[in-house]
Amino acid sequence: MSTPTVAYLDHAATTPVRPEALEAMLPFYGARFGNPSGSHRVARDARRAVDEARDVVAGCLGCRPSEVVFTGCGTEADSLAILGVLRARGGVAVCPSVEHHAVLDVVSHSGGRVVGVDRFGRVDLDALGAALDPAVTVVSVMAVNNEVGAITDLAAVAAVVRRHAPNALLHTDAVQAATWIDLRTLAGMVDLLSLSAHKFGGPKGVGVLYVRNGIALEPILRGGGQEHERRSGTHNVAGIVAMAEALRLTDERRTDDVARIRMLRDRLVDGVLAAVEGAVETVPRNVKIAGSAHMCLPGVDSESLLFLLDDAGVCASAASACASGAMEPSHVLAGMGVSRERALGAVRLTVGYTTTDADIDHALQVIPAAVERIRSRAVGRGAAS
Ligand code: PLP
Repeated sequence: MSTPTVAYLDHAATTPVRPEALEAMLPFYGARFGNPSGSHRVARDARRAVDEARDVVAGCLGCRPSEVVFTGCGTEADSLAILGVLRARGGVAVCPSVEHHAVLDVVSHSGGRVVGVDRFGRVDLDALGAALDPAVTVVSVMAVNNEVGAITDLAAVAAVVRRHAPNALLHTDAVQAATWIDLRTLAGMVDLLSLSAHKFGGPKGVGVLYVRNGIALEPILRGGGQEHERRSGTHNVAGIVAMAEALRLTDERRTDDVARIRMLRDRLVDGVLAAVEGAVETVPRNVKIAGSAHMCLPGVDSESLLFLLDDAGVCASAASACASGAMEPSHVLAGMGVSRERALGAVRLTVGYTTTDADIDHALQVIPAAVERIRSRAVGRGAAS
């Protein structure tokens, strides 16, 4: 078996574009360059492509095409969901402390309420209930945590919201969920749901907000009135077409992909736990997605580890991609009550649809050796001082 030069184990940060998605988008950078807002034949051709993509996305979400709003990214979908409701209805937003900053910062800056989580990073349902009252108009709870991979019991969250704030809308950031969970199930439990194409084999810079029929959102981008006045801006036709193709394939292959990825992830985690003394899984496997291998490695600082892994051709990350490189422990681990010392040795490996057995072999060769190197340096430093 040949060893790959690079084992890409950072699928939560972004995924390789599926070849079929790339192929689907290329004509829209060539002959099919029209602006779908126009009325002539070239424009109509582009509009047809956007309409077809909307039908595909709606099919994967189990919703109506009119409930699909194309956005510029997952971050924008999150902002539109939360700010769109706050501006339309007033009131207060609520979210758990471990949300991606695309939600957490919007809720905090709007003067909203942030509630705690359990030790696995799942929203504390009692704390959520206590934070809800008639002033709350939107509750945002992520379907899958981007750092530790914990899966939210959205049905339980929806029941708490119905009981304590029946008029509030429920939004879920499902950006990390599309590969793993049937989106029809998720969309059926919420009023608003965000997706981002680059997390499931689509291109960067395009997302979706599912908006249940009858919900009025105040737009955050105004102008040409595209997307039924909900999101102005010329459509990213190529991106939208590619996203739809990537989502269609993700949906079609989900069962097989998840089973295969789970086996690879299990081999990776079991291998690291066996070879690295003191290594622990941050969240048990039965509460997280099949691709997540988040671990805490004592006696290691993740910055040095990521450097050595990168050098040896293993791409991993510590906190979420945007916070990677910062020395502060992530807000997710802090929210879960993981000690600072333990959090500083956290590594996030995420397996995905392109991962092979050879990638896992390579990672299992490299990771224990890198940890050993860091630990022996620390011992050397201790002896010298
Ligand atoms: N929400 C979650 C849970 C994410 O993981 C990310 C990206 O890392 C985003 C939102 C932001 O999506 P985008 O990169 O499309 O803006």
